[in-house]
Amino acid sequence: MNRDTAHQRLQYLRQELRRHNRLYYIDAAPEISDRDYDRLYAEVLDLERDFPDLVTADSPTRRVGGEPIEGFVTRRHSIPMMSLENSYNPDDLRRFHEYVRRGLGSDSVTYVIEPKVDGVSISVRYEDGLLTQALTRGNGTEGDDVTANIRTIPSLPLRLDAAAPPAVVEARGEVYMSRAGFAELNQRREAAGETPFANPRNATAGTLKQLDPRLVAERPLDCVFYAFGEVRGLAVHSQIELLETLRRFGLRTQGAPAVAHDLDGLWHEIQALGQRRHEFPYDIDGAVIKVNDIAQREVLGATAKAPSWARAFKYEAEQRQTTLRAITIQVGRTGVLTPVAELEPVALAGSTVSRATLHNEDDIRRRDVRVGDTVVVEKAGDVIPAVVGVVLERRPPDAVPFDFAAHLQGRCPSCGEPVRRDPLFVAWRCENLQCPAQSVRRLEHFATRNALDLEALGGIVAEKLVERGLVREPLDLFALDLERLAALNIGTDTEPRVFGASHAARLIEALRRAREMPLERWLNALGIPDVGSRTASHIARFHDDLAAVAHSDILRDLAALFDDQEALRKTTSEADRAERLEAARRRGDALERLGLVKPGATRRGGLTTYVTTCIGPKTAQSVLAFFATPAGKAILERLEALGIRPRGQAATAATAAAGDGAPLAGQTFVLTGTLTSMSRDEAQRRIRALGGNATDSVSRHTTALVAGANTGARKTEKAAQLGVSVLDETAFLDLIAHAEAAAKAGSALPPSTPAPPRQPDLGL
Ligand code: AMP
Ligand code: ZN
Repeated sequence: MNRDTAHQRLQYLRQELRRHNRLYYIDAAPEISDRDYDRLYAEVLDLERDFPDLVTADSPTRRVGGEPIEGFVTRRHSIPMMSLENSYNPDDLRRFHEYVRRGLGSDSVTYVIEPKVDGVSISVRYEDGLLTQALTRGNGTEGDDVTANIRTIPSLPLRLDAAAPPAVVEARGEVYMSRAGFAELNQRREAAGETPFANPRNATAGTLKQLDPRLVAERPLDCVFYAFGEVRGLAVHSQIELLETLRRFGLRTQGAPAVAHDLDGLWHEIQALGQRRHEFPYDIDGAVIKVNDIAQREVLGATAKAPSWARAFKYEAEQRQTTLRAITIQVGRTGVLTPVAELEPVALAGSTVSRATLHNEDDIRRRDVRVGDTVVVEKAGDVIPAVVGVVLERRPPDAVPFDFAAHLQGRCPSCGEPVRRDPLFVAWRCENLQCPAQSVRRLEHFATRNALDLEALGGIVAEKLVERGLVREPLDLFALDLERLAALNIGTDTEPRVFGASHAARLIEALRRAREMPLERWLNALGIPDVGSRTASHIARFHDDLAAVAHSDILRDLAALFDDQEALRKTTSEADRAERLEAARRRGDALERLGLVKPGATRRGGLTTYVTTCIGPKTAQSVLAFFATPAGKAILERLEALGIRPRGQAATAATAAAGDGAPLAGQTFVLTGTLTSMSRDEAQRRIRALGGNATDSVSRHTTALVAGANTGARKTEKAAQLGVSVLDETAFLDLIAHAEAAAKAGSALPPSTPAPPRQPDLGL
């Protein structure tokens, strides 16, 4: 090919890649497969290698720059990046609304209400359509030049989508990490022995400070935009128009904002957003209220720090302050010693909290937490409460720093055996397998609802069984007889109290039921590192029984695929590369067909990089390792001897093994209202057993909304808006019956709607 033809071909290919990128990331309507995209991309790479002088800065192959940089240059913002004044309650809003009405001398105002993304603000500059610079907010006047890092974000266009782009466009918005991306990143970090990030925002900020753009490219950063900085050759008249313009340029936005015209409407929309803020794939910490009309904004003006025409509304922080009475040490199921804050009881997010985790030794030291301090306790969702900060102004003069190691004196507080600092996990650990505290934790876990549901083992019963030497391992429970159990002293030596015949009978009965429980429950109950109830049910979908799990090719392939990918990143030898690539493709293909991996966001480097969908490589490794240890083998043997043979979802496993995919693979259902024939849990379980997904919020990736009786309006409206089909109970039962029959017959159902695109749900 001569240079001219190459030039033309390159221009065409790059334009195609940009178009497909937009279809994929902005419009969520991809027209070609990832494979075909990769092919186009590889062709560009080849041509650029043959004609290096034809490489352009905005070529899609040039997202990731070459070498690490020395440090960040600080640059001035053309227009300062402001912050927002906060409001917290209806009164604050009323004052704001009054201020706006007075300022405008009119009652006629339109507000838009946008989700406040909890990320890091960024200003991205395009000159004649080309991305030239990205600055962090910094102090508002000047920020760090993080262009090389920002360029690696796959959804961010390197060239604006416009035939005649304006001379200057500065798009302002937020860089963030989705919760899923964050979890995946932390999982990788833990596997590599690195300290996990505390939350998605910290992870984002930390990533932007990376000096090596190649590392940044591997982190799941994304961005959305909601404002302009400097613009030349462009005029917009309202926020709604502004957002539309951003999107037209190929910049991601959060979609059309909610709108209100008066105080009531404003309050209503803020509340409504607050209700659904957890449905977003990323963290939303508030709402941002803006006057829609740009001319009206100019009338209202700004203070030195913030515009007068906008407010942030912070959703009530689920945080409280209280006194730290003591720090105790809890021995976990795996022997990890966790510092626990004993608190002056405080009401927090709907419950009374008197204990909270202090995470680990490093955390205590970093925050300099001292007994007697006033601490900030936080509860996010259904996770355990945690101490997140210290109110230094309220520190008593005699507070002494807490020395974790000195406090331990090298011994486990439960068994008194020596402890070891685990270099990989930043934690102290009791490695005594006979440690009673660990036995108790294992029993407690064994008995939880999502494990074997042994309610009768609750309270102090587990502790007493261990203390009295009746049980050391969970499986010892199956050797207990009624008499001995009934006579168990659950009081103290001086004040004995027996467990009693009726309680004992209940426990024996629960144990009898446990014998029949399915594989997923048992997988969870065994307390395999990294395996929780969700993972357990995913594993059970693909395996017949415990022996199949212990020797699983699927799990081995999962672990190996990521080893290959990791090696491919590092290796330079061409021969090794080709071999690894081949192996990765083969494993990736097979696992993708099972729905266990999918092409990830960093796939665009000429090679498809897979990410996991439900079972991580570390988990896969961990499960295999568990059953390979003497303890793991002993468990298998013992279960065999006890005649306990938990069954996996054989039907589904059979279809999956046949390589056809499960009947509902790739389909996502949302349930709303009440079903008469089964509980919502049951419905979700059956969908998942058939390889489908059951989620809580309707998005354009939803296959169908299953609507029972008394449905809420929101989900059905959303479904109508997005053109998602709605199934009533009869139709749903039909679908499930069909799918279950198909699973038995070993074939996949044709999806009822086109396979959902893979773009992350934008939530709006
Ligand atoms: P604060 O950091 O609390 O002063 O809040 C102001 C910051 O909120 C801005 O600098 C933005 O980084 C961020 N923000 C997040 N979402 C939005 C949004 N939709 N509109 C404006 N600012 C937003
Ligand atoms: Zn111990």
